[in-house]
Parts: sequence; structure tokens; C-alpha cells
Amino acid sequence: MSQSNLILKAENLKQHYQVKQGLFKPDAVVKAVDGVSFTLEKGKTLAVVGESGCGKSTLGRMLTMIETPTEGRLACEGEDLLTLTKAAQQTLRQKIQIIFQNPYGSLNPRKKIGDILEEPLVINTPLNKAERKRKALAMMEKVGLKTEHYDRYPHMFSGGQRQRIAIARGLMLDPQVIVADEPVSALDVSVQAQVLNLMMDLQNEFGLSYVFISHDLSVVEHIADDVMVMYLGKVVEQGSAKQLFETPRHPYTQALLSSTPQLSPEKRRKRIKLEGELPSPLNPPSGCAFHGRCQFANERCKQETPVLRREESGQLIACHGVEEGRVEALVAGAA
Ligand code: ADP
Ligand code: MG
Repeated sequence: MSQSNLILKAENLKQHYQVKQGLFKPDAVVKAVDGVSFTLEKGKTLAVVGESGCGKSTLGRMLTMIETPTEGRLACEGEDLLTLTKAAQQTLRQKIQIIFQNPYGSLNPRKKIGDILEEPLVINTPLNKAERKRKALAMMEKVGLKTEHYDRYPHMFSGGQRQRIAIARGLMLDPQVIVADEPVSALDVSVQAQVLNLMMDLQNEFGLSYVFISHDLSVVEHIADDVMVMYLGKVVEQGSAKQLFETPRHPYTQALLSSTPQLSPEKRRKRIKLEGELPSPLNPPSGCAFHGRCQFANERCKQETPVLRREESGQLIACHGVEEGRVEALVAGAA
């Protein structure tokens, strides 16, 4: 990997929230994100997956500087984002844009599409009205919206079209990184593929890098280059998408993967049921946070917290069972 291709680098990012527990109880701490590291190269996609509540959105808010991490380092093209002056942060912030899940909530219903798209330009660029409009119309075309809809309001569009508007708005300042937080989760399955295809086309055209957040592993299979699987604020498995989908190693990744429907019989796998609920982040289990739901767990897993280790395959895995060879491979075709 050449250094110049590196666009985003996160090191040991943490977000610990203090939460009030009532008048006479001490504050509790929710470790929403607890030590996440990754690198992202230009034009590539890192998928962040895991059940609801594992810290994906919190990570997204830190990457886009909506929230300052409790701890850790974050660099964009080698520039440290967390130690910059406010003014320098403002400029760099434009390079990293976020797209949210809910295109209903994130678009102002009282604004026309044209105004929604031009708003970032009004705030951040010296472009005049005519220049802004030209740019907005060009972007509408790029995302597959009709330019004659420039004066329409968000409610006049379908869910898929609204997500196209949100994507277009995210691209108005020529960002290099898009953090997409569950961008297709609210859409019908038939529309999901269209929006994913659009995102892949835009990635190729503009050389964009994506951090693609999804609770659904099947959604990221075709778009991801690398995948990071999170459980209660920690990464449990991280590696190339190919490795992760072909040879998932962590029992949690295996369970997530075996619960996603596979059409082709040779890809169908033995189904592992995820038993039990996600534990409360206010009171996380000792040892490996996943041990209570893991069929391979033993005494060590209950007591000792596993750290991420690099396997010979290159995958990073935090699991005592994998390390000791007591986790079975998830064999495809064993349905
Ligand atoms: P995900 O996006 O994976 O569903 P989130 O990042 O939204 O997960 O949340 C991770 C954990 O952090 C959850 O337990 C959530 O309740 C908690 N959390 C998120 N934001 C806050 C906050 N501002 N204050 C306290 N706890 C929070
Ligand atoms: Mg979320």
C-alpha cells in the first residue's frame, strides 16, 4: 500500500459517554466505541457491520467530526484532524461528508431540492447563484434525478429518489470520503440495489472512498473492499471482504453471515442461530463480550478479554477460541 493512497487513518478511536443514572447513583459510562483502528485508501470502501447498538453511528459521527472522540487519533491525508485549529478543521471537514439512513428526516421538508443541494455551497464557497445552480443541476443529473425537478419539495419524491438527493447533497463540496450510515436500510429491497449501484458508479467516477455502515452484512458484500465487524463497541473481526465472506473466522461473524439468506446452494451454509440478546452496554459482560451467546465459549472467554490478533490469512480476529483452534470453520455448502 503506497502511503499517498491513504486517505483516512483511525487509531484507537474511543467514544465513552457519561450517562446519568438518577439522583443518587453515580454516572455510568457507555463505551459506545472502544478502540477502533483502520486505514482507508482512496477509491476503496470499508464496511462497518454489526447489530444495532454496537457503535457504528457513533464511529460515523467521530469520523465526520460531528463528535470529538474521547481518545484516539484520526488523520485525513496525513493531517491530524483532532489537533487542528477550528478554521483548518472546517476546511478539512468538507472532505468528509456523511449520508444518513433516513432520507425523510435528513432533508428539510420546507426547502426545494435546488436549495437543499446549494446550501453547502452558500455556506462554504464563494460561488454566486448562477454558478451554484449550474452545479446543483449537474449533480442532479449525475445521481439520476430529472433536472426539471429542481423546484420540487422532498415529499414529492420516492424513498429511493430522496436518498439520491441526500447523496447529491453529500457530493456538492467535492468530498473525498463519504461516511454512509445505513444508506439503504430504509429502502425497499428492490430499490436498495439501485442506490448501491449508483454509489458504486459515483465512487468510480469521483474516486470516492466510502465508510459504509450497515447492520446487514448481505448489503455490503458487493460494495466493500474491507469489512470491520463490531460487537459492543469493539472490533471482533476485520479483513478483506473476500476473506470475510469466504472464510469468516469469528463466531459472531459466522453467525451474522449464516443468518443472511443465500440464493446459490453452494454458498448456503450451516445456520448458526444467534441466541440471546445483545447485552446492555451499560453493563457489559466480563471477558469476551460475546461469550454469553457463543457456542464455543469456555471459562477463559468469560474472564479474559480477547484482543485483535492478526491471523496468517491476514484477518484480524479477537477470539480466544480461534487462537486455540476450538472454533470450527463455517463450511459453505453444509446447509
Ligand atoms: P449503532 O449505530 O451501531 O446502532 P450507536 O453508535 O447508535 O450504535 O450506539 C452505540 C451505543 O452508544 C448504544 O448503546 C447507544 O445507546 C449509546 N449511545 C449513542 N449515543 C449516545 C449518547 N449521546 N449518550 C449516551 N449513549 C449513547
Ligand atoms: Mg446506527
